[in-house]
Amino acid sequence: MDTPAPPEAAPNLKYLELEFSGTVCGGLPQLLTFALRRGIGTLRILVEDDVEPELLTRFCAQAKEAGMTCSVVLPPTLRGVRGELRSKDIGQAVVICGDAELHDFFAERELFPDAEVELRCGGELWNVAAAMAECADRGIPCRFGCSEAFFRASAADIAAVCGGDLPFPGGRACLGFAESVFIDRTGRVFACRGLRDLPVGSIFDEDFQGIVETSSILDYYRSYTRKIKEPCRSCPAFGPCAGCRGRAYRYSADFLGADPGCPRNADKLDKVVKLPVRDPEHFIPHQGSMLLVSELISVTDNACEAAAVVREDNPFLTASGLLDPAAFIEIGAQGMALLDGFINAGAEMRGMLVEVSRFEYSGLPVPPGTRLLIFGNKICEMPPWSVGTFKIVSSDGGFIAAGEVKVCQFQEPQ
Ligand code: SF4
Repeated sequence: MDTPAPPEAAPNLKYLELEFSGTVCGGLPQLLTFALRRGIGTLRILVEDDVEPELLTRFCAQAKEAGMTCSVVLPPTLRGVRGELRSKDIGQAVVICGDAELHDFFAERELFPDAEVELRCGGELWNVAAAMAECADRGIPCRFGCSEAFFRASAADIAAVCGGDLPFPGGRACLGFAESVFIDRTGRVFACRGLRDLPVGSIFDEDFQGIVETSSILDYYRSYTRKIKEPCRSCPAFGPCAGCRGRAYRYSADFLGADPGCPRNADKLDKVVKLPVRDPEHFIPHQGSMLLVSELISVTDNACEAAAVVREDNPFLTASGLLDPAAFIEIGAQGMALLDGFINAGAEMRGMLVEVSRFEYSGLPVPPGTRLLIFGNKICEMPPWSVGTFKIVSSDGGFIAAGEVKVCQFQEPQ
């Protein structure tokens, strides 16, 4: 059977967000080519204090010449740049991280009549909902910008910051993870600002378009209404809202997990599954002695790490008391199935191993009690088919086996 082609990426990105730096400037041509090809008209540019203003204005002018609109989020220390951006008609926005800064901005508002504001919880939480209302009263367009303090906040803190507009101040949910891609100052690519622990590539190592089209995380986020898990999934607000991805990931290490900070989920946290998962029988159909994997440790872009402890009742144990090499194919395939079962948690999955290729075995003897680590990589996924590679090592890192598997998996009707 031929390896299926990777799926076409859905072209629903609305803007690109990047953290400005001299390094990122070097990637501008490929970002512009991608954006223009996809019909993306907006670059949202986050600027830190240490940025060279001339470099920034040159960057924005170049983007504008290519047909992009830049929304530049400036720190208070770069006030002077606002005027230049406005005079070049490039756009401007101001980042405000507290009440004092907000009132400074109001005091000099007449100097920057077109500026929008991005209100953020910087190092600590503050009443962003009230600040948004104050901006609205003054006719100042503003939006909420996420930050570390917001990601780490408890449900009670979120309720205080958001007022009645749960779970985001201003009442407009953030769908940045589905509508944009974020590039940090070193060129690393992420689904959004909140997922800086979960890179999906680097524009200096790979083609940006290739990253967007082959990242499983970006692919799942484009179809997030079928992927984000309970209890968000059953919330009446789900769809226009899918919670804060940064908060979800910090809580459960699952980028598809529900938002634990939303007060609507406060009494349902028992439904949020956290990694590592140690009950694989709830995620794959294999049971009893045929269940060879014991743990899903982590899930990242197109990849997972799982573990298997060889039990005394393992049906692949030979008369010599060691595992038959065929066991490693089954262990690798179960590792991949566990990844799929976790990603599609809640859906009953049925499937079969269709083909194994490139199998290698080191010959290392594996008796009962051995803990094996399985590193799985998804090469492509075109439901019901998926193709992946696995590598199995001992707990001290010794290579045991590797191979490529093709799996056919169906979701049972609910
Ligand atoms: S429960 Fe989830 S979907 Fe519902 S409002 Fe809260 S974060 Fe949004």
